[in-house]
Parts: sequence; structure tokens; C-alpha cells
Amino acid sequence: MTQSSAEWFARARTVMPGGVSSPVRAFRSVGGAPCFVAHARGSRVVDVEGREYVDLVGSWGPMILGHAHPDVVAQVWEAVSRSASFGAPAPVEVLLAEQIVGRVGPVERVRFTNSGTEAVMTALRLARAATGRDVVVKFAGCYHGHADSLLVSAGSGVATLGLPDSPGVPAGTAQDTLLLPYGDLAAVERAFADHGERIAAVITEAAPANMGVIPPPPGFNHALSRLTRSHGAVLVLDEVMTGFRVGPDGWWGLEGRVEGWAPDVFTFGKVIGGGMPLAAVAGPAAVLDLLAPAGPVYQAGTLSGNPAACTAGLVTLSHCTPDLYSRLDSTAAQVAQVVTAALARHGVPHRLQSAGNLFSVFFTDEPVRTYADAQRQDTRTFAAFFHAMLEHGVWLPPSAYEAWFVSGAHDADDLAVIEAAADMAARAADEQRGDRRAER
Ligand SMILES: *Cc1c(COP(=O)(O)O)cnc(C)c1O
Repeated sequence: MTQSSAEWFARARTVMPGGVSSPVRAFRSVGGAPCFVAHARGSRVVDVEGREYVDLVGSWGPMILGHAHPDVVAQVWEAVSRSASFGAPAPVEVLLAEQIVGRVGPVERVRFTNSGTEAVMTALRLARAATGRDVVVKFAGCYHGHADSLLVSAGSGVATLGLPDSPGVPAGTAQDTLLLPYGDLAAVERAFADHGERIAAVITEAAPANMGVIPPPPGFNHALSRLTRSHGAVLVLDEVMTGFRVGPDGWWGLEGRVEGWAPDVFTFGKVIGGGMPLAAVAGPAAVLDLLAPAGPVYQAGTLSGNPAACTAGLVTLSHCTPDLYSRLDSTAAQVAQVVTAALARHGVPHRLQSAGNLFSVFFTDEPVRTYADAQRQDTRTFAAFFHAMLEHGVWLPPSAYEAWFVSGAHDADDLAVIEAAADMAARAADEQRGDRRAER
């Protein structure tokens, strides 16, 4: 008996909060029932009702080679046949760590975790241990996972659902987080002038992509590295999304390597696991060797460095060549171009913003530089656009606050599907705006 997505969703809601394992998947902000997925291959996802979509979510970033890449599948299969987990060191962890160290200049040590959230939690613990200070500076709209201290004005699902800061976060924890507007260097300088001796770390997304895509203002990350250094604080560059996605050595490779700066700690995730649960905290030995058992800072994980996950990551990275990145750049540019052309043709106000091959469309005619700007976008128009795209075979992130992801598997056929769908979706977006004007 086949069941529809709606039937699965109803069943799911009786046994899982909101019917999902992660909030944005539930389609709350765009309305309707989420599609339940049966399988995916290359650039296409197929739902339980047999409908096929061109996928622009890519599992939120990890599927940089497309789904079920034959080499990844074969080697993970082989790895699992030698047991899914050992709870002991294995060569594949070393090989993956060597890949990361080899690619990202400032990285000398890598500690694997199961999620980006854990990697960021560990990064902050390291920063606090290294400095003997407590306060963490975070930027509004940047998402760093769901650890208590970082759920203050976070992007991603928190933004999508319009949640206030989550209940369950102790006031004391939130008090150690200093929240500043993204890109506002003067505010960071003031924070250091006022509280410099209490600030353990500044954490930032290398290029914010969890409030829609907001490229860092020129020189911003560089200035953060100077300020943290001169005040004895740690710069945590969160590359969970951008790492190994925007280039062979992540956003740091596009900016820091060129401008001559480096963070003290990196966090990686998404692409390094090739779709399996894997992330990492990484950086110079002087900081990372504070971790137990080399040092006194405790951090651990039953499944950390899981051999199947490390294999998926290692095989994925082995295909992440300069060639792949130039393909991703050109595919992203083409998708962006057909979508903006359709919106322009139908007179729908919008802003396309990009950071490397990450991009997103805001339904607004103002530039979006901060979380406050992003919150001024027209999310109802996005919802109309989203559903029309889905109906015409294109799977976008179900939120106006998320980046769109392309993969090495996207080709000219996919682009044709996207172009045709974008025209209908731009019309639907325009009609939605028209209906609202008529209501007033
Ligand atoms: C996805 C993401 C995280 C959290 O990673 P999870 O694996 O979902 O816990 C942290 N930081 C950034 C920048 C991310 O995009």
C-alpha cells in the first residue's frame, strides 16, 4: 500500500513533535504538508508519491556531488560491511583529517563530532578555556546550531518560524552572549572597548547563509581577526556551511588566504560528511591540543569519527576538485540568472544575493545587509513562489531564510526545468502580490 505524503505526515505527527526531526522540514512558514522522500539520485529527489523534483536543497548543503554518487555509495557500503562503528581509532579518520589539514592552511589538528552544533559547542569551550573568559560575541541572524548560548537571535529555523529566543535557555547562559548586528564593525570595536577583558570569542559565519545569503562586507572578517588578536580573544570562523562548498579550502580560501588572516578555530560540517552525520572543530595545534586527552578540555562522542561517515566525507572530498568548483560556480550563476530574469519579467521586486556558489532570493527591493533587513522581506510572496516551483518540479528550501544549493550533478536538463518552473512561479508570486493589493 502506498501512502501519500499527507498521510505519512499525519502519522508522523502522532509519534514525532511536529512530525519532523528538524523544524524547517515541516513547511510551517510556507504552508502545506511536506513531501516525504522515497529516494534521490544525482540532482533529482523522488517523493513517496513518485513525483520527481530538481533538488536545490541538497540536504542543506552536504550533497555537493549530488545524491547517491556511485563512488560514495560503493565505498560507504564497503565500509559498513566492515562494521558500522568500532568505538576505536581507525585509519579512515586519519585520512580525512589529513585531507582537511592539507587543504586549509591554518588547520593543524581536527577533532571530529557528529553535528555542526557539537563542533561549535566545542569551539566555544576551547575559546573559553584558552582565554579564561566567558563572553561570546555573536551576530544577529547567524546560525551556529542549537546550543544554548547561540540560540540568541539565530537564523535558519529560528528565523523561519519567527521564534523569540528559545524557552529552556537559562538566562545566565544568554547573558554570556553579546549580540551585535552583522557587519557592524563599529559595534564590535565598542564591545571590545567596553568589555574587552571579558570577551572569550567572536563567532561568525564565514559568509552568513542562514538568514538568506549575506556576503561579508569587504574587510569585515579580516578586521574581526585583528580585533580578536589585539584583545586576546579567539576568532571562531564557522564554516559548517561554506567549508569545502564555496571552494577547495572554503570561504577562508577565498578571503583569508588572499588577505593574509586566519581564525583561531574553524568549524566544519555538512560537505565533510558527504551526507552522513559528521562535523569537525579544527585549527592550529596550540588551540586544538587543549582538547582531552592531549589537554584538559573535555569533549567526546560514542560515534565520533564514525568510519562510514568518514568514508563518505573522504570520498566526497576526493571529488571536490577545482573543476567541480568551477562547475558549481557556473551552475549557481545560471540558476540565479534564470530565476531573476523570470522575476524581473513579471515585475516582482527581489534581490538576489550570493557568496561564492551560495545564493538566495529575497522578496524585497532593498539591499539586505543585516538580520533586520532580512526580516523585512515579503515571506508570503516567497511562499507563493515556493509552492509554484514545487508544483512545477523544483524543490527549493521551504523557507525564505535559507540558501539554495547546487551540486555537480545539475545539468542543462535541470536548468531547463528550473527555467520553466521559475516563469510560472514568478507569475504566481506576482498574482499573490496582486491579490493582497486587492484586499487592501
Ligand atoms: C548547519 C549549520 C550549523 C549546525 O550544524 P548541524 O549539523 O545542523 O548541527 C552550524 N553552523 C552553520 C553555519 C550551519 O550552516
